[in-house]
Amino acid sequence: CGIVAYIGHQDAFPLIIKGLKRLEYRGYDSTGISVHDNGLKIFKKAGKVAELESSVEELTIKASVGIGHTRWATHGEPNDRNAHPHFSADKSLSIIHNGIIENYDTIKKELLSKGYTFQSDTDTEVLITFIEDIKKQNGGDLEQAVRSALHAIEGAYAIVILNEENPNQLIAARKGSPMVLGVGTDEYFIASDATPIIEYTNEVVYLKDREIAIVNREDFRITNIDDVEQTPYIQKVEMKL
Ligand code: GLU
Repeated sequence: CGIVAYIGHQDAFPLIIKGLKRLEYRGYDSTGISVHDNGLKIFKKAGKVAELESSVEELTIKASVGIGHTRWATHGEPNDRNAHPHFSADKSLSIIHNGIIENYDTIKKELLSKGYTFQSDTDTEVLITFIEDIKKQNGGDLEQAVRSALHAIEGAYAIVILNEENPNQLIAARKGSPMVLGVGTDEYFIASDATPIIEYTNEVVYLKDREIAIVNREDFRITNIDDVEQTPYIQKVEMKL
């Protein structure tokens, strides 16, 4: 349902909490955040953003990169387990996802037959485990694994992935679900609409269908799922909060 992600020099956890509150108007049943703080961590639960906030000792989290989600359940009931973010099987990747992976069942069966297990009933956990599996086979290239996985799935998605090995990078992609990249000074924001972004920057890039954004601390680039480099169109938004 709602996506907020951040990479830069600010304290990521409270910034993402604030952004998720700005997206509450969309409606949701669960919420969660993954940050990189001495490894990948996930905090998530069914219920309101304020409940997540009060359940976490924020002050102990030191992170300048993270991804957050408000979920509107489509696959698997609304509970703590099914809330996003989801880890891949070996917990080296975490993901948030808006939309529906229509052929997740076929992919899940293949992964189960390879010995993978799942902690949730979601289509989203299948996607991130699928990406992990491809990455293991291709020598560890996450960007390429994301591209291959997106070629194989059917349905709609806006996703953001956090990577244990490279905490200086977020990978985002979309098809059929909206996604906006906010361009700051040595900091970037990703969200499902501009409302969580505009208090920090009015320069945004609306990602197009089948585009992938590779966002580092100091720069970003956009390719498409066929690995063709795209020229980003940065536009100025004027929006009142
Ligand atoms: N299909 C995913 C799920 O049920 C994402 C739902 C959403 O867009 O919030 O977990």
